[in-house]
Amino acid sequence: MWKRKTKVTADLGADIRIVFPEAGLDVVFDECDRFDHDETGGRLVGTYKEHGGKLTVQVTGIIESGPQAKRSPVSFFQDGAHQESIFRQIESQHPEIEHLGNWHTHHVNGLPTLSGGDIETYHRTVNHHNHNTPFFYALLVTAKHHSSDPHRRYSIKHFVFRRGDKDFYEIPPRHVEFVDAPLVWPASASQTDHVDHRHSAGSPPRPDRAYDSDIISEFYPGIRPFSSQKLGVYWRGPLELLDGSRVQVVLLEDSAGRTSKHSVALRDAPAALQSVADELAKEEFPSARAALLATERNCNRALYQRAHIEETKSSTKRT
Ligand SMILES: [Zn+2]
Repeated sequence: MWKRKTKVTADLGADIRIVFPEAGLDVVFDECDRFDHDETGGRLVGTYKEHGGKLTVQVTGIIESGPQAKRSPVSFFQDGAHQESIFRQIESQHPEIEHLGNWHTHHVNGLPTLSGGDIETYHRTVNHHNHNTPFFYALLVTAKHHSSDPHRRYSIKHFVFRRGDKDFYEIPPRHVEFVDAPLVWPASASQTDHVDHRHSAGSPPRPDRAYDSDIISEFYPGIRPFSSQKLGVYWRGPLELLDGSRVQVVLLEDSAGRTSKHSVALRDAPAALQSVADELAKEEFPSARAALLATERNCNRALYQRAHIEETKSSTKRT
């Protein structure tokens, strides 16, 4: 068994550069904020260039860990099936995209570097015959800070494993460049770019879409983002209610103004929810997640009140 070590600046490690979007830091750090005790992470996608031994890895998207991810303070397993389906979805629009690697957190357990298990897994991954790229990029979150700068909320380290190489490399900060570039995923972030250019060039970025994407994909996995010429950005899918029934929800974004407004429509709502549907259709919400939460609450309240009235009726009859 060979001895593994990390080279910080020597030979091959110095020939590796990472280009990372600042919007990606928001996605990573927001996810860290949500999992304060358990490890979490996601998949990194993008493009790379390799020329004369020099490798440039450019991250353009971050795929969430997925609804079936398993977390503990010392372990983390991603929902690979979910991530693969998202990857196919991104690939259909951005055929140049590749799997670049993973990110995960250690600040929750205090280990400031990759674990032995991480290293073994990444060596195995990069040398696997199904692995498409000659490297594997691992971003590790190592510490949490109380910083008012959203991009300094956490410390991160970057590691690269190369195929056929027994070592791995920690990429020095001067070889990591943070850029102001749009993300192809989460969908919310990618469509920020698309929609803003269409409606009002130079309008401010809308981090809200990233929160929508995070929260909706985590808690309402059946509801997914779509984008069309006619409707712009919208979310659609089944919302499960407290009696086990489902109602089809469509969340529309109106981003013509400086701040986006959201509306909600229930498709084929049952009679019990018709008045809720009519009320909701008149309202405006500051985000897709606010629209969805209001929909869930109002529908559940209507179902509960109806059940309660029926119960009262039947108990009145009995007495
Ligand atoms: Zn780890």
